[in-house]
Amino acid sequence: MNFDSIWSNFLLEIKDELSSLAYQTWFSETKLYRIDNSKAYIIVPMPIHKKHLIDNYENLISEKLNKITGSNCELIFLLNEEIETEIEETNLVREEVVKDEHINSNLKKQYSFDNFVVGNSNKFAHAAALSVAENPGNMYNPLFLYGESGLGKTHLMHAIGNYITNNSNKRVLYVTSEQFIQDFIKTNRKDDLETNFNYVDFFKNKYRNIDVLIIDDIQFLGGATKTQQEFFHTFNNLYNDSKQIIISSDRSPNDLKVLEDRLRTRFTWGLEVNIFPPDFELRSQIIRKKIIAENLEKDIPDDVIEYIASNTGTNVRQLEGSITRLVAYSSMMGSAEINLDLAVEALKDTVSKGIGEKNDVHRIQKIVSEYFQISVEDIRSKKRSSNISFPRQIAMYLCRIMTSESFPRIGIEFGGKDHSTVMHSVEKIENEIKVNKDLANIIEKLKKDIGLV
Ligand code: ADP
Ligand code: MG
Repeated sequence: MNFDSIWSNFLLEIKDELSSLAYQTWFSETKLYRIDNSKAYIIVPMPIHKKHLIDNYENLISEKLNKITGSNCELIFLLNEEIETEIEETNLVREEVVKDEHINSNLKKQYSFDNFVVGNSNKFAHAAALSVAENPGNMYNPLFLYGESGLGKTHLMHAIGNYITNNSNKRVLYVTSEQFIQDFIKTNRKDDLETNFNYVDFFKNKYRNIDVLIIDDIQFLGGATKTQQEFFHTFNNLYNDSKQIIISSDRSPNDLKVLEDRLRTRFTWGLEVNIFPPDFELRSQIIRKKIIAENLEKDIPDDVIEYIASNTGTNVRQLEGSITRLVAYSSMMGSAEINLDLAVEALKDTVSKGIGEKNDVHRIQKIVSEYFQISVEDIRSKKRSSNISFPRQIAMYLCRIMTSESFPRIGIEFGGKDHSTVMHSVEKIENEIKVNKDLANIIEKLKKDIGLV
C-alpha cells in the first residue's frame, strides 16, 4: 500500500466520524507525505491546521491511522514548505543509524592470537588464520575453517578480525549466519512501511561496504534458499573486489549438503582448513593458560590440571566449563583448597557423563576382571597383590592399544595411578607378550571378547 492510498482510506474513515463542515475545513486538504521510523508526516495547508488538529483530533487520527497501517505512529504535521528541512534531518538520522551499525564490527576483543594456544591439532588453522590476518584479501580467499564445536573456530575468526582492525583501516564485519538471515529477512518486509526502505539500504551498506566479511557457522544458512542466493551475491560482490571472506562451519564444504552446489564450490576456491580436537598435551596447556588468565595459578595444582585434561573430553568450551565449575565449587565450600579430591567431587557429573556415553575402559576392565575372576572394584583399586596387579596391567595395556585414551586418563581409571606407572605397565606387558606365548594367546582371546578391533 502506498502512502496516497493509506491516506484516502484514512479520509474515508474520518469522513464518517465528522460533520461535513469539520471534515471540509480540517481534513480535505491534508496529505500523508510518508511514514518512516514510526513517524507519520502529514502535510497541512496552513499553520492553524497544525494546532487545531493536534488539540482536537490527535487521538482520533492516531487511532484510525494505526488501524490501517497496523503500527503505532507519532504524528508530525508539516506545511509544504517545511518538508525539505524535515527530510534533510531524517536523512541525517538515517545515515547515522546505518553508519553506527556499520561501524559495529561485532568483534569480541577478548579473542586474540595471543590467547590462542597452539598445538598439533590446530597449528595449521592458526597459521592460515595469521596469514589472512596479515594479508587480507590477498592470501587465501575465502578462508574456510571447519571442525567440531568448541575447538576454537570462533576464537580464531575474531582474532583475525581484531588483528586487521588493530593494524589497518580496513572495515571488518563479523556475523553469524543467523544474523545474516535476520538482516536479509528484514529487507523482504515489503508491507512494513516503517522499515522497508531503510533495511534494503541498511543491508547493502552493511554487507557490501566492508573489506572483510567474517561469517560464522555457515551450516545454518541451509534451508533458506533465498538467503543462500543473497549470500551468493554478497560473496561474489566482495570476492570480485578482492575483499577477504572468512567462513566457518562444523563440516567441510563437501559435506555441506544443505547448501547449493555453486556456493560450496566457491568455498573451495581459497583455503580449507580443518581444526582437530586437542590432544592431552594441548588440553593441559590450554587449561594452564586459562588459569593464568584468571589469576588462579597458585590455587590449582598439576594433578588437578591433568585430571581435567584427562576427563573432560576434547571440547575446549567444556574444559573451560570444568575450570569454572571447580573454582565455583571451591568457593561454595568456603574457599576450600583445590586438590584432586575436591576436583573429583566437583566434576563428578561432568566426568561421569563422558563415561556414560561411551566408555571402552570400563568394558575392558569388566572383561579382564571376569577372565581372571577378580572383581571390577579390585581392578580399579590401588591394591598391590599380584593376583590383582597382573590383570590390572593387562587391562591397562589393552586400554592403551584398543582405545584412544591417554596414559593419565587410563591411570585415573585404575586407582589413580600416575601416567608413568601406566606407561611402565604397558611396556612390561608388551615385552612379555614377545616371549610368553601363553600370555600372547590370552591377550588375543581378551581382544576378541572386548571386540573393539
Ligand atoms: P567453536 O567456534 O569452534 O565452536 P570457540 O572458538 O567458540 O569454538 O571456542 C570455545 C572456547 O574455547 C572459547 O572460549 C575459546 O576461547 C576457547 N578455545 C578454543 N580453542 C582454544 C585455544 N587453542 N586456545 C585458547 N582457547 C581456546
Ligand atoms: Mg563457534
